[in-house]
Amino acid sequence: MKIGTKFIHAGVEPDPSTGAIMTPIYQTSTYVQEAPAQHKGYEYARSQNPTRTALEKAYAEIENGKFGLAFSSGVAATDTVMKLLQPGDEVIAANDMYGGTYRQFSKIWEKFGIKFHYVNMGDANNISQYVNSNTKLIWTETPTNPLMNIVDIAAVAAIAKKHNIILCVDNTFATPYLQNPLDLGADIVMHSATKYLGGHSDVIQGALMMNDVDLREKLYFIQKSCGAVPGPMDCFLVLRGIKTLHIRMQRHSENGEKIANHLRKHPKVGKVYWCGFEDHPNYDIAKKQMRGFGGMMSFTLKDDSVDEAKRVLSSTKLFALAESLGGVESLINHPASMTHASIPREERIKNGLTDSLIRLSVGIEDADDLIEDLNQAIG
Ligand SMILES: *Cc1c(COP(=O)(O)O)cnc(C)c1O
Repeated sequence: MKIGTKFIHAGVEPDPSTGAIMTPIYQTSTYVQEAPAQHKGYEYARSQNPTRTALEKAYAEIENGKFGLAFSSGVAATDTVMKLLQPGDEVIAANDMYGGTYRQFSKIWEKFGIKFHYVNMGDANNISQYVNSNTKLIWTETPTNPLMNIVDIAAVAAIAKKHNIILCVDNTFATPYLQNPLDLGADIVMHSATKYLGGHSDVIQGALMMNDVDLREKLYFIQKSCGAVPGPMDCFLVLRGIKTLHIRMQRHSENGEKIANHLRKHPKVGKVYWCGFEDHPNYDIAKKQMRGFGGMMSFTLKDDSVDEAKRVLSSTKLFALAESLGGVESLINHPASMTHASIPREERIKNGLTDSLIRLSVGIEDADDLIEDLNQAIG
């Protein structure tokens, strides 16, 4: 089945009681049993809810996985993966990733005795030197947020397999339309469904997808025991979002390409970070593992001052100044003070995330209007 057909039909079947084509929002906390422990597979809504079941099936299908699990947020999905570990375990994580992931690792999990090594994974060979018998998890993200670096998932997966380490890939930026980490050897895919999967800036949710049944049982046990589950209304919204993911991603990618090329030619723009440029350092890997390049990008101005960046950030009219990404409407963001403020300045600068960097989430509006808006803001 081709990807568009799959996204529209994933997880959903006509409702058995009425034939409703959309899975209803099962707004219930419990289910009546015929006799003690005799039930229809649903006992209590923290453990199972039919709207969530449909979405979890959809999650599995869109990432070519066997299993999907839904969470109340992306960071709750991350938290669940981390609870597979024990004190003394070590994690190798990408040095350029979502600020909230870094915050959870450094401020929450370190204190429970987990050790982290932050590594530039642009070259997968950098990873091996940090592997030892305590290494239990490799955590990566590609393209990275916000510098659009590319990590070779298959190469990292080969290292993880060799040493029997779990590899989890945050696939939020690429989405399953552009990239499927499980097919490239990852053990777990993580998503902030808040972004492209939901796609309409109206829900907070996270997802995990996997193939291994033991891993699924462990993660489901944590989901049920720790309880970071999404409500049925939120599951319904993401189910609806997934139906148009392919169409939205096509437009995000088209607009992204037009805007990246336009910015690159703009006399007042400095460096543009977008993984679809042929001279991107890892373009070959991007081309190999992705089906397109999406609408996320960052750029600096020739006048590389923070004041000038802030002036541009405050001058757009269509691009809304906001955190988050992946919705139909375009957003502009200042990583240093917004999405990535939780990363210490030294760490940020070391990795190239300067105070004057501007990040765009290009939406699906008409590209000409978006270009006009950026032109008037940059001046
Ligand atoms: C937003 C985001 C997260 C966190 O997800 P929430 O849904 O906000 O909890 C994790 N990773 C990436 C790449 C993100 O953009």
